[in-house]
Amino acid sequence: MHRSHQTVVAEWMAARRVGDVERAEALYREMKRTWDKRYATSRRQRIKSQENEKIDRAEVFARDRWVCGICGGLIDSGALAPDPESPSVDHVVPLSKGGTHTMDNVQAAHLLCNSRKQEH
Ligand SMILES: [Zn+2]
Repeated sequence: MHRSHQTVVAEWMAARRVGDVERAEALYREMKRTWDKRYATSRRQRIKSQENEKIDRAEVFARDRWVCGICGGLIDSGALAPDPESPSVDHVVPLSKGGTHTMDNVQAAHLLCNSRKQEH
């Protein structure tokens, strides 16, 4: 089984503590490899997240003029969650169904409408 970077780091520190220089050196080399692997993963994740825009809630509500995309009613801009009338950002195509977190896939919605939609 492949050991995680953290496991290798812990073993390396343990080896250094007991003065096992050879083992510490071997672990240090392994640590660099696992670190690179970890870096490669986070790089992939970074690229993936770039596909997803950072959504500014205020921008969504301004664009949709505070009209709920689900029921068509006006959203109370002053209401705060968990108030059912409070504003929430709804994914038109749910993320679980392959939708993206992008401006063209989000709409303003009442918190209640949004959560009702997710139940179905
Ligand atoms: Zn609504």
